[in-house]
Amino acid sequence: MTLVCPHCAQPHPLDERFCRACSMPLVYGDGPSVEEPVSSRHERARKIDPRYVEGDLVRVAYATHQAEAEFLQGMLLEEGIPSTLRRTRGFDVPDMLAAGPRDIMVPASGHAAARDVLLEAEVISDRPPDPEPAASRVLAVLLGGMALVFLLAWFGADLLG
Ligand SMILES: [Zn+2]
Repeated sequence: MTLVCPHCAQPHPLDERFCRACSMPLVYGDGPSVEEPVSSRHERARKIDPRYVEGDLVRVAYATHQAEAEFLQGMLLEEGIPSTLRRTRGFDVPDMLAAGPRDIMVPASGHAAARDVLLEAEVISDRPPDPEPAASRVLAVLLGGMALVFLLAWFGADLLG
């Protein structure tokens, strides 16, 4: 009784949770399990559909934090699609923090199915995500700041005069 990676089929000891090579959640290998109680992990592992474990990991969705990402992973797992999380590039958040956006990665063969699940649940849309116009936000903050300075000067002058 060992754990194997559903993605690259590499065997792992039972105390591992994720594949060392590709960080997929591990599933139980063949063989009857006597000592292992039917844990929730086992329950989940049984659900993974072998059709959805082929190919490279590709990004299927984006979550703004760990809890949301895990919720989406659970939804995908309901359909037998294994997934793994990656910290979205460009955000430097210490690893111990649960904050910070996550990319949800699925094997390429599960991508279409995963998209269907997430589209159905209206988690993602058909349109590519609108990149936040950072420049206009900076401008808004600047204008807000200037307005404040102006008001302070105005009322300050009023009070002094
Ligand atoms: Zn692997």
